[in-house]
Amino acid sequence: MRYAIIGAGLAGLVAAVEIRRADPDAHIDVLEAEDRIGGKLFTVPFESGPTDMGAEAFLARRQDAVEYVASLGLGDELVHPSGLRSLVYSGGTVHDLPAGGVMGIPATSAPVAHLVSTDTAARIDAEGDQDSIPWQVGGDMSVGRLVRERYGDEVADRVVSALLGGVYSCQADDLGIRATIPQLAVALDELAEAGEKVTLSGAVARCEAARPTPAPGAVPAPVFATFRGGYAQFYEALAEASGADIHLDAFVSGITRGVGGFTITGGGEGTYDRVLLATPAPTTAMLLRQLVPAAAEALKAVKLASSAVVGMKFDSAEGLPENSGILVAADEPEVQAKAFTLSSKKWPHLGERGGALVRASFGRFGDDAIVRADEDALVDWALDDLETLTGFDGRAAGLAEIYVQRWFGGLPRYDETHLATVDTVRTALTDAPGIDVTGAWTGGVGVPAVIADARAAATRLLG
Ligand SMILES: Cc1cc2nc3c(=O)[nH]c(=O)nc-3n(C[C@H](O)[C@H](O)[C@H](O)COP(=O)(O)OP(=O)(O)OC[C@H]3O[C@@H](n4cnc5c(N)ncnc54)[C@H](O)[C@@H]3O)c2cc1C
Repeated sequence: MRYAIIGAGLAGLVAAVEIRRADPDAHIDVLEAEDRIGGKLFTVPFESGPTDMGAEAFLARRQDAVEYVASLGLGDELVHPSGLRSLVYSGGTVHDLPAGGVMGIPATSAPVAHLVSTDTAARIDAEGDQDSIPWQVGGDMSVGRLVRERYGDEVADRVVSALLGGVYSCQADDLGIRATIPQLAVALDELAEAGEKVTLSGAVARCEAARPTPAPGAVPAPVFATFRGGYAQFYEALAEASGADIHLDAFVSGITRGVGGFTITGGGEGTYDRVLLATPAPTTAMLLRQLVPAAAEALKAVKLASSAVVGMKFDSAEGLPENSGILVAADEPEVQAKAFTLSSKKWPHLGERGGALVRASFGRFGDDAIVRADEDALVDWALDDLETLTGFDGRAAGLAEIYVQRWFGGLPRYDETHLATVDTVRTALTDAPGIDVTGAWTGGVGVPAVIADARAAATRLLG
């Protein structure tokens, strides 16, 4: 059987491994437009050691992902964060990130009282007295709209957008509840189904009550993990385990189906029995235009958010706060960055290199201009903002290494129509045997979600 996989990002490589494991004799070609594999996983060889400029961690609570990594022989390469707290910059100063709630949305004003005005705090506590939310079971709305309508803009901008922006490069207003905070959607459904008054505070309290209470004295399992040598360890191991022929600089511009199978324009040789598109949504739409027009049409709705990462290595860490990172509230126009990861504080294995390693992140959905800014401007903003937020003078600390990475269309926007779009695409594909899709736009943007979706897609393709 001959397989073509378009895209050597995480999804494409995982799918290749899955196919190889099920069909050791398969011929697998992976066609990649860039001159390297990994896509949004990208480890850069800083002189001080390998440094991630794309994803830098994953949710270790996803046991399936941890086990998958172990299945590649990389279990011992996983490392965990220091556990230092993160901060949020709002109102010209840094504060502790609110604890509890869901994605920063509290059930009472207590967790966010230090971040919002007394009027907003009173509004949160009186939210249960407002009319019921007109919530349809199984329905959806934007996170921003829900939070703004019930609690006001301060909670949306200072807490929720800051937290979601770090994961999705989008404001709360651009994200759907069911796709990005599914447990909240379920709690809203349950309240509506039970005929109870549907309130935000009630739904959040329900989510909190559903959380398992840790056994007394139990040491909580680490929430996040990463690779000691950076994500390159992972994508290189995947490429190796796949036994696939990986073709770099192979920009695929078309796929046609003939009597002998699928023919690929722009890469590969001969015809293929099965094709998997592991590409971002717009590329997938372009490649499906002839073969599955309904899927291509639906995919036009998926928009992408761009971002930029500036990695900085300083000779000295003196003056850098003892925190893992700092998120920036969405209503802080003087600050260009949306977040800082204090990598050498967050990850002990990076701290051991000495000095300080910091990642500045820029860009939210709809604001591509900042990502297009020239490199010097991005570095200056990174240094200036870091000083504004922490008092740490990076120029005086000795800026030994810098890397600027732009991610145009880095993440798909999971708005309140996104899940329906994915359903439409999947339904359309049932009429197109031998071809399937996967990637960050299908089953979630996080690394564990991408792995799970790619494995499922490969299994479907294997038939
Ligand atoms: C800055 C940033 C930070 C992130 N941080 C985290 C994190 O800490 N933790 C986490 O869990 N997730 C994180 N993510 C999300 C996660 O990294 C991505 O969702 C995931 O890596 C996407 O994998 P993918 O294979 O779906 O897509 P991609 O990585 O985009 O791979 C798609 C591949 O297809 C190729 N391609 C596109 N068009 C063509 C074509 N026409 N022909 C051939 N090839 C083509 C591309 O070049 C690319 O290599 C982050 C994402 C970004 C952008």
